[in-house]
Amino acid sequence: MTSYKAVSKHVVFVSTFVILLSFSSNCATSTDTTCQQLKSYINTIKVINTHEHQRRFSQYEGHVYNFYTLLSHSYLNADLISAGAPPFDPENINKGDLDALWQAYGSSLDFSRNTSYYSHFLQGFNILYGYKEPDFTKDGIQSLSEMIAENYKNQDNWYAEAFDRAGFEIMFVDQYWAPFNTDLDAKYFALVFNINNLVTATTQRTIKYREDAPLSSNMYRLASHEGYSIKTLDDYLDFADSLFQKFLDKKVVCLKNSMAYGRTLYYEDVPYEQAEALFSRDSSSLSLEEKKALEDFMFHWIIKKSIELDLPIQIHTGYLAGNGNHLENGRPTKLNNIFLKHRKAKFSLFHGGYPWTGEFAALGKMFPNVYLDLVWLPQISRQAAIRGLDEMLDCTPYNKFFWGGDCHFIEESTGSLEFGKDVVAEVLAKRMERGLMTEKVAKDVARKIFRDNAIQFFKLQEKLNLSKSE
Ligand SMILES: [Zn+2]
Repeated sequence: MTSYKAVSKHVVFVSTFVILLSFSSNCATSTDTTCQQLKSYINTIKVINTHEHQRRFSQYEGHVYNFYTLLSHSYLNADLISAGAPPFDPENINKGDLDALWQAYGSSLDFSRNTSYYSHFLQGFNILYGYKEPDFTKDGIQSLSEMIAENYKNQDNWYAEAFDRAGFEIMFVDQYWAPFNTDLDAKYFALVFNINNLVTATTQRTIKYREDAPLSSNMYRLASHEGYSIKTLDDYLDFADSLFQKFLDKKVVCLKNSMAYGRTLYYEDVPYEQAEALFSRDSSSLSLEEKKALEDFMFHWIIKKSIELDLPIQIHTGYLAGNGNHLENGRPTKLNNIFLKHRKAKFSLFHGGYPWTGEFAALGKMFPNVYLDLVWLPQISRQAAIRGLDEMLDCTPYNKFFWGGDCHFIEESTGSLEFGKDVVAEVLAKRMERGLMTEKVAKDVARKIFRDNAIQFFKLQEKLNLSKSE
């Protein structure tokens, strides 16, 4: 029988060993050369990142930049709240009192040292700031904050340097906070049209908007600004047409639906006449069911438009960021009727549908026009991503997978890419060792996930002049 002392010593030894390894390669064991070789190969791929929320630099001007600025805009923020910390107050972060901030958040940060949100966030600082500690500590955060403040004094230079070091070629940016803005820096970003607002605004025609509402997010103010008068559903659809044209002119690569944050993903097929009658009514008189019917009609209309314009639609499925929502709303199979009806539309489902990764994989297997994006899954749960990708590779052809980061700052995007690479390398290495895959095929799978599939599916050669790997 092993004594408690001996066991605990062994645990200390093993954990130190694992930590050392995790910062050298992140493959499962030191002897796992297959995984390490695959990881080295993946590191040579210029990555097409199919989903980010990177904000324009000016949108954060006026902020003090320290570790907590980035933490409060990261996914890890939600784990701290889940562990019992209060929500971040931007004013407190701007005061920059790091002692007080550690006092308030240090213990919740420590309680989150086990999560994938924590680990991938740490990875970003490991790569971009040379932070080699196994955890965030009070002293470590002090020195990171000094480096962050220095880097963000010249954001343009820092962004260019970090983007390059992380290994990105281009990022798709979903500006859910400003969905009608078409102005992005094409050096780093490809334009995505988030259509949530276009769908929900059908139920707000007669709701008075503020005269200073942002043009980039208020459909009716934007319409009026551009000389459109929206009285009927046809007027609304005409204006929607003009928006699509504007996005096409700016080389939009796809549409994005993240409506599971506010409603079910089940969209009924509502006839035009019913939608027209509902639209013509006073918006404030519409019941919840009637609002849903109008939204359902509009999303089907957008899908038909996407076929006409050959634009894929990315759809959020599964887990919902933050600290409280209706998880069931994002269940992937709620989209089944849409996939049956719109066979010519191109869909990319997000986030492994977590926790319904099996349903997610099954939809990709069943429908030729349904593709699967691993985006954010490794950050939600590294282990679920490993299990999920292995299962997806068992059932779905590999020309149908993508990878994206889903972050607001380059530091977290860098960590998320590292996590994504680790997951893919580990899964492929295990498949090679089990005799399920040759090295040649494993490398091809990795190259397609991180680059080539996106170029093919989103037509990036024609739109952005990007070419596939040699
Ligand atoms: Zn997102």
